Amino acid sequence: MRFMMSTSQAILTWSGLCAILSPPILGSAVQLLPPPPILVNFTADVVYNYTGTLNQTKSVTPLVIDTFVDVDRNDLGFWHGPSTSLPAETGHGYVRLFPSDADQNYHTELGPATCFDMRPYQHMYLHLVFSGSTKFSISLNQLNEKCDSRRSPFLETWDSVEAERYARGNDIYVPLDHFLVDQSRTVSVSFHGFFTWDSLTLYKVEIVSEVPWGFYVPPKLENGKLFLHCTRPNSFAFGIDDGLPHLVRDVMEILEEEKILVTFFVVGAGLRDKGANFSSVYKEMLQKGHQIALHSDTHQKIEGLETIKAVDEEIVHNMETFQRELGIQSRYFRPPYGTIGARTRQRLAAYIKDPNIINWSVDVEDWLWKDSKTPERQRDAFFRDVGRGGNLVVMHYLSPTTVRYFKEFIHFIKSLNIDIMRVDQCLEDPDSPPIDPLRYQKPVKYKVQSNRDPGAQEGMAE
Ligand SMILES: [Zn+2]
Repeated sequence: MRFMMSTSQAILTWSGLCAILSPPILGSAVQLLPPPPILVNFTADVVYNYTGTLNQTKSVTPLVIDTFVDVDRNDLGFWHGPSTSLPAETGHGYVRLFPSDADQNYHTELGPATCFDMRPYQHMYLHLVFSGSTKFSISLNQLNEKCDSRRSPFLETWDSVEAERYARGNDIYVPLDHFLVDQSRTVSVSFHGFFTWDSLTLYKVEIVSEVPWGFYVPPKLENGKLFLHCTRPNSFAFGIDDGLPHLVRDVMEILEEEKILVTFFVVGAGLRDKGANFSSVYKEMLQKGHQIALHSDTHQKIEGLETIKAVDEEIVHNMETFQRELGIQSRYFRPPYGTIGARTRQRLAAYIKDPNIINWSVDVEDWLWKDSKTPERQRDAFFRDVGRGGNLVVMHYLSPTTVRYFKEFIHFIKSLNIDIMRVDQCLEDPDSPPIDPLRYQKPVKYKVQSNRDPGAQEGMAE
């Protein structure tokens, strides 16, 4: 029963976290928080602060992004601020952050929730003037393909570096090309992934063409690539995390009936627990063609762990357990709670060649609603995010209500003639198994159900 205990601990942590986040923040991936409403009348798709052509990079003038003189806006005139749970003290010319969680973050935007073209600056440096903690990540965030902050995912991806590696005295210089994102679609610089609770004070964020003489800039460390959505046209993937042993048969039955393949993100500790029997369950899932991917060893916010040794243990023990119990290796990893920063990404890349880190663009919000008086709000969340263009799901099988809605979700996606597949397939991974077209031949009708009648979806589709 060890796993039952650890599962409920996971749920407690999860709900505890959820209690401090408001629902629109979409799980614990706080970086998905949409920026506040735009106060300026702005209609362009892409912001160009630079007026030359892209080839004239040598003459690009530095860009002061933020000197923290205004509470709500940075020097570009765009929003800056902390996530709701991050206490911050603002003064004239600085902001002081008091983190207590790896998910908390502070963003300073490069455009009014639209794409900012960073390419003219790509050979330059992001410069921070700061004091205090260096135990955090710095990220350059990339907006979605449509440069539309109302779409899901809002942030298509981001790349992160460890502040500590780049800090000397009160300065940090990061070459912009250390951020492997589409630089034509950047939207903000953010600070997050805190792993001590010492305060951090920021005085200046800017882009400069040179570092001071003698200032050491480290090489870029390899890290994992972060995905929040499927790239294959017309594809959709269910990424299913932790579950309860007594619900797994129901999930399997649905997968069989619906003839779909999914990806399970599986925790090492659960697999080792003989009582939970997950090992034989997931062996069966593998045989049926589902993807089994890493989800840490004990389901903690890995980025928040203080030592690299602790980060490594979460990765390595998960990998070893996969090898021992299932005889497999996986390049796919979903961080518990979606919490991801530079260190976790780098350590994954230290153990796995080209790791793919999988978050989501459809959050069923089962963690929020499954035990509430309104479990049907899981449906609302699903349809809301799919409506915004999301195509990669996070869900768990921790409640019969979620499992019941799962069938309806599948029918809905099928009725749109969208192909449901494993995460590696939806990311067009050349190592993934070929797509079986037979799975997608039968059209499915979907009848809109009453939201207040969770049992009604039985038999609703052909
Ligand atoms: Zn999980």
